[in-house]
Formats: sequence, structure tokens, C-alpha cells
Amino acid sequence: MKSPETIKRMRVGARAGAVNRKRPPPTTDAARQNMSSAAKRKPPITKETRQVMSEAAVARLENGVGPYRDTKPERVFEDQLQAAGLCYEKQVRIGTMLVDFYLPQYNLVIEIDGCWWHGCSDCHPDGGAKLDQFKERKSSLEVLGYDAIRIWEHEL
Ligand SMILES: [Zn+2]
Repeated sequence: MKSPETIKRMRVGARAGAVNRKRPPPTTDAARQNMSSAAKRKPPITKETRQVMSEAAVARLENGVGPYRDTKPERVFEDQLQAAGLCYEKQVRIGTMLVDFYLPQYNLVIEIDGCWWHGCSDCHPDGGAKLDQFKERKSSLEVLGYDAIRIWEHEL
């Protein structure tokens, strides 16, 4: 009879496409020896990390299926700022607000809004979550002496 732990290991092995089921779970040092050099460079996934991450995300990292990419709109926009060589600060507190990006050279706040969450009328004519506070935020920022623009997720 297999222990629950063994069954769990076998499942991990099957997910990783392992033919040899005697192979230890991928996070051990021995398993790391067998990994591709790209996979070896990644830090090991600890038990604690595993607890907070979904199984699917863990499997994806361990199997080295593509580089893991955070595709959140803010991340996409940050890449664009870096590519353009612009100076920026991320998640800046201004007054009582936490803004997405601040470009000191332009004294400009840029808010990146997800189309569904913020109810973009182009992408969601019937309405998304409608958490659209941009107008109010822009007014408050202008009072404090900042310019503010919004970039929709679909514009990135
Ligand atoms: Zn949109």
C-alpha cells in the first residue's frame, strides 16, 4: 500500500512527464542535478512557497514550461517604460492614494487600468466591474499639483 506522500510524489512525477517514477520529487538536490541548466538556475521551491502557490503554478515553474511571466498590465507597462529608458517610480503614495506609476521628469502619474475591473466601455460595452475611480483620482492629483493620465489594459 502506497502512503499518501508517495502517491503525491507520483502525481508530481506524472505531471512533470517523468517516465521513471522512482525519480525523487523535483525539488530535491538530486532531482536538480537532472534538470536542464535553465531549470537549475531557478531557486528551489520551498514547502512554504508551495503552500502559497497554486499547484499549477508550481508545476509550471518546475517543468520549465516557458519563462514564468507575470502578464499583469502593470508589468507589461513597466517593461515598456524600461525599454523607453524612462525614469519612473512604481506604486507611489501620493496623499491618500497609491498610484501605479509616477514619472518625475514629467510630474506625471500614470494609472494602468484593467479593462474589466475598471469598466472600459470599448472592451466591455455592457459594463465590467465598474470600479472606475479615475476621474476622482485625477482631480485629487491635480489639486496636489500632479498631472495624471490613464492607460487602459487594451492600449498596452
Ligand atoms: Zn479596454
